[in-house]
Amino acid sequence: MKRLAGRTALITGAARGIGRSFAEAYVREGATVAIADIDRGRAEESARAIGSSCFAIEMDVTDQASIDAAVATVDERTGGIDILVNNAGLFDLAPIADITRESYERVFSINVSGTLFTMQAVARSMIARGKGGKIINMASQAGRRGEPLVAVYCASKAAVISLTQSAGLNLIRHGINVNAIAPGVVDGEHWDGVDAKFAAYEGRPPGEKKRLVGEAVPYGRMGTAEDLTGMAIFLASHEADYIVAQTYNVDGGNWMS
Ligand code: NAD
Repeated sequence: MKRLAGRTALITGAARGIGRSFAEAYVREGATVAIADIDRGRAEESARAIGSSCFAIEMDVTDQASIDAAVATVDERTGGIDILVNNAGLFDLAPIADITRESYERVFSINVSGTLFTMQAVARSMIARGKGGKIINMASQAGRRGEPLVAVYCASKAAVISLTQSAGLNLIRHGINVNAIAPGVVDGEHWDGVDAKFAAYEGRPPGEKKRLVGEAVPYGRMGTAEDLTGMAIFLASHEADYIVAQTYNVDGGNWMS
């Protein structure tokens, strides 16, 4: 029996990386998935590759009109959203002295405002439909503690953990479970730019930071997007009906040292 049979999921930032892996996993479990991303071309490419239970929509989680339009489109096309994964996210790093207001506002508008207002739009739709639902927010080990070069991202993911607690406690009365996943370090395209920035700030040769981070994970390697899909399926399934306002680590035992 497929665990998400007949359900509809909206996954933000699913054109690539972790979100795309979740889309593949949810389709394998019987769901219809809307791949929502600011990168329309890549979202369409990913939806085509995954197959007919998947479709792409353009969505910018920093823009309220875009959020509302995306939720309305998915509702109309499928009959209603059962599962939201607030996955769109932006990582940036700089020492405190170099943080720019522009970077701070961009990271917070995607990671925090995007999570809150997408959650709000989908929750309103779920409440009106009266069938409950599942909302999964992407937090991070970075939200559990500070990192010397990662203040803004860490603060944004701490806010995601806090929003998950409050929204989870508020929305469960409507049968909507809100929980979060806190990955450690996950390999993927996201690292292409990140490694170079760490190299510049820490005076390391390119590639060294990524290697060291992987070696520091007690499991013995960095995570992959596929390592997270078991938790993403579980939290979206009815097996998680009694789980409310929690953030689960899926991190191989550690975050970067
Ligand atoms: P990624 O950078 O590979 O993918 C992010 C996706 O979000 C991209 O497809 C991008 O186009 C989309 N996006 C960016 N801005 C958007 C916007 N305004 N509206 C809609 N879509 C937008 O990221 P990833 O590594 O797959 O990470 C996914 C999530 O997991 C993020 O929230 C990230 O913070 C979190 N996370 C990642 C790691 C990691 O090591 N990769 C670790 C912990 C948590």
